[in-house]
Amino acid sequence: MSTHDYSRRDFLKSVGLGAAGLFVSGRVSGFQPQTGGIAPDNPNIIIIFADDLGYGDLGCFGHPTIHTPNLDRMAAEGVKLTQFYSASSVCTPSRAALLTGRLPIRSGMCSDRRRVLFPNSGGGLPPTEITIAQALKTRGYATACVGKWHLGHLPQYLPTRRGFDEYFGIPYSNDMKPCPLMDNEKVIEEPANQATLTKRYTGRAIRFIERNKNKPFFLYFAHTFPHIPLFASEKFKGKSLRGLYGDVVEELDWSVGQILSVLRKHSLAEKTLVLFTSDNGPWLVMKLRGGSAGLLRGGKGSTWEGGMREPCVAWWPGKIPAGTVGNGLSGTIDVFPTCLALAGVKAPSDRVIDGVDMLPVLLGTGKSQRNLMFYYRGTRLMAARKGPWKAHLITWAGYGDKPHKHDPPLLFHLEHDPSEKYDVAKRHPNVLADIMKEIEHHRGTLKPVKSQLEVPLPKNKT
Ligand code: MG
Repeated sequence: MSTHDYSRRDFLKSVGLGAAGLFVSGRVSGFQPQTGGIAPDNPNIIIIFADDLGYGDLGCFGHPTIHTPNLDRMAAEGVKLTQFYSASSVCTPSRAALLTGRLPIRSGMCSDRRRVLFPNSGGGLPPTEITIAQALKTRGYATACVGKWHLGHLPQYLPTRRGFDEYFGIPYSNDMKPCPLMDNEKVIEEPANQATLTKRYTGRAIRFIERNKNKPFFLYFAHTFPHIPLFASEKFKGKSLRGLYGDVVEELDWSVGQILSVLRKHSLAEKTLVLFTSDNGPWLVMKLRGGSAGLLRGGKGSTWEGGMREPCVAWWPGKIPAGTVGNGLSGTIDVFPTCLALAGVKAPSDRVIDGVDMLPVLLGTGKSQRNLMFYYRGTRLMAARKGPWKAHLITWAGYGDKPHKHDPPLLFHLEHDPSEKYDVAKRHPNVLADIMKEIEHHRGTLKPVKSQLEVPLPKNKT
């Protein structure tokens, strides 16, 4: 039995359906996506995920010297989301949440000892978790993962075992050794020649799109950069006003332009949702080699806004109104239910799904269904946001800093004070009490799970 048969069977079990026959005319019986009257007709979905790109690193998000004409055009033709979050301020948990719609605390993809998976880790995204790719396979989508995976590098955890028809990329961060480049499950280069990665990823992504232009597809395109060490190809090296970091981001921007252009060329633009964002905030301690969170406080590793609020641009000509700004609360955790809604797939009912369908925010058809956001560092709940208010129980910049507990918690009004400068806890005890009640309720939904990040590599796999 192939991997896909397993995926499909497991998925059906998880949504409470025993047989494929319950999918009526290819649609799950009784399921109606909340799309405000849009007939989705199985659109293609492309998620482009940058690594460690900050909120302030794109032209359309205010960077003065990094030129991103393709992303700026994408925003001008689509929507720019200004209150969009990743689910973690570091790689592994952030990616687990994006692909499953669940907080990493529920899947075991976080830990207080090791913040991400390493080449000497033996764990990965548990087989009981369902990825977007697995869910979309049940509707006949072609699926590909191009780029950085970081959800387990042992064979049983690779994208090809998690609903993706194909994989091309590096299995973890580019500062980890030996940094192999893989084609499906085969290592084709070790270490990967990083200067040509963005270009080769882009070529692979384009070939996937062209090969599947006549059927629905899902492409998860997770760039290796601008995670450090930074590499740009010859064409981009030394060209940006912002130095090597700018060169790297400008090459990512070129890549986005290539993807959108191939969609236009094959008349797929109006059939394809493209969402561009980042896995976590900029790596500030790397100084000039790291990015910028713009006016947001903090960066990668912290639960200040700069660590988890991401630049996000979504594009779907004819569906997403051009040149709009969406300020509804949303995040990568919402991508899973949104993709399932677009494909007409019922969300699994045997587990907590933390995400909500974010189509109203993307399409500008209504208010965000999300009013709450939880900020975790490992297994610790550090802060929570309700509406415009954010309460910090603990702050910890990371990288040499120590945790600071706050009792009473710090309170910021993020719409008035996006830089989290002015603690107004004393003036709003009722707001704080209300958020504390939400936290208590949230904690009641958690169950202890084994951390995958602490599983050692089996002895014979060194
Ligand atoms: Mg990252």
